[in-house]
Amino acid sequence: MKDLLGGKGANLSEMTSLGLPVPFGFTITTEACNYYLEHKDFPVGFFDAFDEKLDELEHKMKKTFGSKTNPLLVSVRSGARISMPGMMDTVLNLGLNDETVQGLIDKTRNPRFSYDAYRRFINMFGNVVLGIGHKHFEEALEAAKKKKGVKLDTDMGADDWKALVAEFKQIVKRQSGQDFPEDPREQLKLAIRAVFESWNNKRAFAYRRMNNIPDNIGTAVNVQAMVFGNMGEDSGTGVAFTRDPSTGEKCFYGEFLLNAQGEDVVAGIRTPQTLSDLQGKMPKIYEQLDKIQAQLEGHYRDMQDIEFTIEKGQLYLLQTRNGKRTAKAAIKIAVDMVDEGLITEREALLRIDPNQLNVLLHPSIDPHVDKDVLAKGLPASPGAAVGKIVFTADEACHQTEDGEKVILVRKETSPEDIHGMHVAEGILTATGGMTSHAAVVARGMGKPCIAGCKKIIVNEDAKTVAINGEHFAEGDVITLDGSTGEIIRGAAATIDPELFDEFEVLMGWADEVRKLQVRTNADNPHDAEVARRFGAEGIGLCRTEHMFFEEDRILYVRQMILAHDEKTREAALAKLRPVQVEDFKGIFKAMNGLPVTVRLLDPPLHEFLPNTDEKMAPVAKGLGVSVADLKETVHLLHEFNPMLGHRGVRLGITHPEIYEMQVRAIFEAAKIVHHEGVTPIVEIEVPLVGHVNELKKVRAMIERVAEEMGPFDFEWKVGTMIELPRACVTADEIAHHADFFSFGTNDLTQMTFGFSRDDAGSFLPVYTESGLLADNPTDTIDQEGVGQLMRMAVKLGRSTKPGLEVGICGEHGGEPRSVAFCHEIGLDYVSCSPYRVPVARLAAAQAAL
Ligand code: PEP
Ligand code: MG
Repeated sequence: MKDLLGGKGANLSEMTSLGLPVPFGFTITTEACNYYLEHKDFPVGFFDAFDEKLDELEHKMKKTFGSKTNPLLVSVRSGARISMPGMMDTVLNLGLNDETVQGLIDKTRNPRFSYDAYRRFINMFGNVVLGIGHKHFEEALEAAKKKKGVKLDTDMGADDWKALVAEFKQIVKRQSGQDFPEDPREQLKLAIRAVFESWNNKRAFAYRRMNNIPDNIGTAVNVQAMVFGNMGEDSGTGVAFTRDPSTGEKCFYGEFLLNAQGEDVVAGIRTPQTLSDLQGKMPKIYEQLDKIQAQLEGHYRDMQDIEFTIEKGQLYLLQTRNGKRTAKAAIKIAVDMVDEGLITEREALLRIDPNQLNVLLHPSIDPHVDKDVLAKGLPASPGAAVGKIVFTADEACHQTEDGEKVILVRKETSPEDIHGMHVAEGILTATGGMTSHAAVVARGMGKPCIAGCKKIIVNEDAKTVAINGEHFAEGDVITLDGSTGEIIRGAAATIDPELFDEFEVLMGWADEVRKLQVRTNADNPHDAEVARRFGAEGIGLCRTEHMFFEEDRILYVRQMILAHDEKTREAALAKLRPVQVEDFKGIFKAMNGLPVTVRLLDPPLHEFLPNTDEKMAPVAKGLGVSVADLKETVHLLHEFNPMLGHRGVRLGITHPEIYEMQVRAIFEAAKIVHHEGVTPIVEIEVPLVGHVNELKKVRAMIERVAEEMGPFDFEWKVGTMIELPRACVTADEIAHHADFFSFGTNDLTQMTFGFSRDDAGSFLPVYTESGLLADNPTDTIDQEGVGQLMRMAVKLGRSTKPGLEVGICGEHGGEPRSVAFCHEIGLDYVSCSPYRVPVARLAAAQAAL
C-alpha cells in the first residue's frame, strides 16, 4: 500500500504484520496530505480519526499523551511512495513540555537524558514547525558549553540541559513571536501540518526534479511511539544493510552508535562503529538483528536498508526499505538473487536503472602510475573524480557554470547542498559514515564520494582545507578515489573501466530480450573498438568532419576551401582522399562484419577556418595566402545562423566534389579491407535532407561513382538522416531514394522547437526549472512534438518501403526513456556514444519487457 501509506508507512505495517518488534504507531495517508496541500486544511473527519488512533496508541503503549506521570512521546516522520532521503522533515520526542518532562524523569530516573530529549525536541520543533534556523539553537548550545568550559555534549549535565531548555524557549519566542506550545495535541497537529508542507520545500522540490518523481503524489506522515537509543551504554541506534551497498557482497553490513538518538548516524556528526562491534558488545541483540535481516530480505526479495534502535537492551525496528546501492552492487545483487532463486531474470533486468550503468562505465584511477595519496577516508561511492576544490554548494554551481570541474569539500553535507553535489565531480567530507547524507546521495547520483575523512580539517570561512596537516586552498586540484577512499594530490591518471562477470551476465540477459539493435556513434577506430567491447552492433553514425579537424589534414581542408579555381580545389581534394581512405579502413576493420554508417560532410565550411584575428596570421602563413585573402574568405562564409545555414546536403549540392571525394574514399577503403578478408557493410548517409530532390541528386552521384569503381562484392546502401520536419512529413517520397533512415534528433529537436541547440542554454533551464517543460528536450525526446514527427516519418517511410531500416543517432539514442520510445515506434536500432552502449542495451531490454 505504498501509494497510500508511503514507503515507510507501508513497510512499518508490513513489519508489524510479520511480528517484528516495531514501536506502535499510525500512518496518516498521502491522500490526506494531498487534500491538505490543495485546500490548506485537513479533510472533514480527520481529527475524529486522529483522536481515535491516538487513544488506541496510548492504550497499546500504556502511556498517556501529556501525562505528568507516564507520558507518551512520539516521532513524526514523513514518508512518500518513493523514498526521498533527508528531503522532508522529522520531529522527535514530541509530547514533551514542562510537566511531561517530569513524568519522563520519574520513569527513567534520568534527568540528564530527559532534559536532553526536551531541548532536542524544542530545537527540532522550532526548526521544522516554526521555521527557526538551526543556527540560533546551535549558537546557544555552543555558548553554554563555552561558559561551562567543556567541548562535548556528553560533558553537559542535567542542569545544563535544563537551563538550555529555558533558553531555547526564549529563542522560540523571540524568533517566532509566539510561546512554545505546551499542549502535546497541539504540538502534534502543528507537526503534522509542517510535515505536509515540507513536501513543497525547496530541497524536496529539487530532489523530485532530479529523480523524476512526480510532484502530486504527496507524503504520508508516520506517528510512532518514541524509543530511545540514548538511554545509556545499553542503548544505541544504527543502520544496517542486508548486503554491502557498495560492492553487493552478500554480507550483513552496517553501522551503529552507542547511546545516540535517531538521526545521529545519518547526520554524520559522529563517525559510527561497525556491526561487528555490536556483535562484540551485545551478542544477543546482534543475533536477533541478524535473523530479522535475513527474514526481511527474504520477504521483500530485495536488499534491505534497516534502521534500528536499542532501548535499554531491547531491539526495535524503525524502518526497512529497499536499500540504495551503487551500480556495481545493484548488478551483483540482482544477478546473485537470480542464482539464489529469489527473483527471475526478468525481475533482475527490470531492477537496474540503466542510467546507473553510466558510473560503471566511467574511468577509475590507473593502478600503474604513482600517486601521491594525501589521506584516506571512507570509500563511500566509487569512481575517480578530478577537480578543483570548492567549499560550498553555491560555489560549486558558480564554477561549473564557467566550465570548471570541481570537488565539493565539506565538513559534512546536508540536503541544502544537493545542488552543489549535483554539479560536482566528486564529494569529500570530514565527518559521517557510509550511511551519511553525503554517502547516500552521492551513491544515488553515481558520483565518487569519500566520507568521514578524519585527516581533513575544513575551514569554510577561510576557504582552506588541511589535508593531513597540509593546507590546500579553493581552486587547488585534487583527485578522489571513491572506491578506495584515497585523496590524491593533483590530477591522477585514470583508466577505462573493467567490466565484471555479473555485468556480462546481466547484459547477456538483456540481449536475449531486446528487440532494438544498439549501435554506436564513433569517428575513429579506437572509439569503435571500445564500443564493440561494450556490445555495439555497428556504427550508427560516423561524423566525417571530425576526421577533417585532425592535424595532418586540416591544411588540405583549408586549401580546398580557399581554392579559387577548380584545379587547386581538385589538388587539395586529391591530398585529402588517401587520408580519408586510411580513416575508413581503420573503422571498417574495427567493425568487421557489422554495418558502418558513414555520414558525408555536415558542418558549414567556416568551422574549419580560424575565427579570431590572432589565429588568422599563422593559418594564412601555413596556407601560403595573405591574411587579407583568408579574412575575405572567412567573411564570405560568415552566416547569421550557421545551424540553419549552408551545411549538410546543401554543401553536397553546392560543392559536389567534396562529397564525391568522400564517396570514392569510402568505396576504396571498403574494397581494400575486403581484399584483406574483412567484411565491410557500408551505409553512406546524406545529412540534413529536407527535399527528396536533394537526396535524389546525391544518390545519382554515388551510384555513378559505384558504377565506375565497382562492381563490389560487399554490401552497400545509401540512406539519409531524418533531421528536418520537412523530411518527416515527406518521408514517403524520400524513402523512394533511401535504403535507410536515421533520425538526427539533435537537429530535429532544434528545428521542431525552432531554437538553436547552441543557444538554447540561455533559456531552456528557465523552462525546466519552472516546470514549464517537464524535461529538457535535448536530454530526452520530446515525445509529443518531435516524437510525433518521428512516428509519422517511420510510418510514411515504410508505407513506401516496407521493412525500411530506421534508426536514431542523435544524443537521445543512449537515453533510457528515449530508447523506450524508439522501441515503441518500431525503430530497428539506436546509436549512441560508446560508453552509453550498455545503458542502451539494458534500456532496450526493459522496453521490450
Ligand atoms: C543529429 O542532428 O541528431 C545528429 C546526429 O547530427 P549532428 O549532431 O552531427 O548534427
Ligand atoms: Mg544533425
